[in-house]
Amino acid sequence: PEAEPALRVEAVDVTYGRALSALRSVSLTVPHGAVVALLGANGAGKTTLLRAVSGTLRLHRGAVTAGRIRYGTTELDGRDPVTAVRAGVVQVPEGRRVFAGLTVEENLRSGGLGLGRRAPAQVRAARDRVFDLFPRLAERTGQAAGLLSGGEQQMLAIGRALMAAPKLLLLDEPSLGLAPQMVARIADVVKEINSQGTAVLLVEQNAGMALSLADRAHVLEVGEVRLSGAADELARTDAVRRLYLGET
Ligand code: ATP
Repeated sequence: PEAEPALRVEAVDVTYGRALSALRSVSLTVPHGAVVALLGANGAGKTTLLRAVSGTLRLHRGAVTAGRIRYGTTELDGRDPVTAVRAGVVQVPEGRRVFAGLTVEENLRSGGLGLGRRAPAQVRAARDRVFDLFPRLAERTGQAAGLLSGGEQQMLAIGRALMAAPKLLLLDEPSLGLAPQMVARIADVVKEINSQGTAVLLVEQNAGMALSLADRAHVLEVGEVRLSGAADELARTDAVRRLYLGET
């Protein structure tokens, strides 16, 4: 049912290797069609939470050791990206990791691989959506991804994730290292993607940008949720203004 939160993270602990505790008893939800922001300092555990949801934790020698993650009725355990992608949950990794030696077209085609064989019309519809959002990519389908600008590579990384037609997009610091103009462009794109019905869990160092886009936000501090609330309310709290919005 629409009223139920789509993503439910309940009292989740994550550990790397034998001992390093990265998340402790983290709970949050992402309702259908919402934008939820995740703020916090370097090392707070933001990326770790996205990995737990997208099933890529195991690739980094991490594991969910307690709690529960569900998307709708699908159980996500941090270990299985294919289950997450099939449930409609796709992560855009930090650092716009595109395949530099492959073309734009080939990078896009690699999106949604975990979905198995899809009808050509479905793939075409996904690609049309990507090219509508990012006309620059449509103009450069044959170009090696490594030759794109940083902003274009970020767009390609997002576009590749959209090829899987996600219902929930996990975005890890899309504004990192981009010029202000490009940050504004990425913010517009997130809005547009969301207005087309895709929910977004957005990790950002740029708290101003994230809070302006989000419905709700959570602040992580050394592996625990410290603050949660409506994004506009959090933007007015002293701690968030001082620590994350750079105000004195
Ligand atoms: P950043 O903005 O730097 O990515 P973050 O909030 O996303 O920070 P995480 O990357 O999730 O934080 O890291 C949380 C903690 O887990 C940190 O102490 C980090 O050193 C540790 N960590 C992250 N990945 C691994 C890994 N593969 N193996 C061991 N420890 C890790």
